[in-house]
Amino acid sequence: MKLSETSLDTFVETEEILKSLTHTEIGDDHLYTGLETPMKENAFVLSDQEKKESIAQLFAQIMDIMGLDLNDDSLRGTPQRVAKMYIDEIFSGLNPENKPKVALFENKYQYNQMLVEKNITFYSNCEHHFVPIVGKAHVAYISSGKVIGLSKLNRIVQYFAKRPQVQERLTNQIGVELQSLLETEDVAVIIDAKHLCVSSRGIKDDTSATVTSFYGGAFNDPQKITELQQYISG
Ligand SMILES: [Zn+2]
Repeated sequence: MKLSETSLDTFVETEEILKSLTHTEIGDDHLYTGLETPMKENAFVLSDQEKKESIAQLFAQIMDIMGLDLNDDSLRGTPQRVAKMYIDEIFSGLNPENKPKVALFENKYQYNQMLVEKNITFYSNCEHHFVPIVGKAHVAYISSGKVIGLSKLNRIVQYFAKRPQVQERLTNQIGVELQSLLETEDVAVIIDAKHLCVSSRGIKDDTSATVTSFYGGAFNDPQKITELQQYISG
């Protein structure tokens, strides 16, 4: 895959700098350590059911420590609800078994221009604060002879969004996955998102949004980028 050497160098450098900092020094800065979501080797030893039971117990402890009364009717079921939501929904993209199955089709129409699927709404969560990242993804590719169902582009975005994320990694994971599926370098991903850890806490900036992009192959050509931006803004 064509992640440029410069970005690989940057990963390595970032990793070295990170190791030399304490987490208080890192503070609220959202640092990005690599393409792969950092997972333990034994991440899937526990079943989903076992994970939900443990998370529910631990979340009940967090609520209890904060002084909430778990005997209250409104709060009693919260630990189980949170656990189920984490494993089955908002973090279900951590499990490779939940990756969408994608069938490719031959490009019968010989359409060889860029295809843009824009305004794919997604909900993710910031891995530094576990609060939502809400945004739109725009995905584009130029077929190398294979095409993919449009809804699958959407599903791939949702799969990678359903992990604790940083926006840069989300963008690159979608881009690299599409390059591999579509057997082409010519893939672009643009993500425009709001981070609740920025808008609702910390510096409380309610108007800023973060834009990240992944341009592979033909999309490194400034003309192609302009064309893509016209599709997206049109
Ligand atoms: Zn955050």
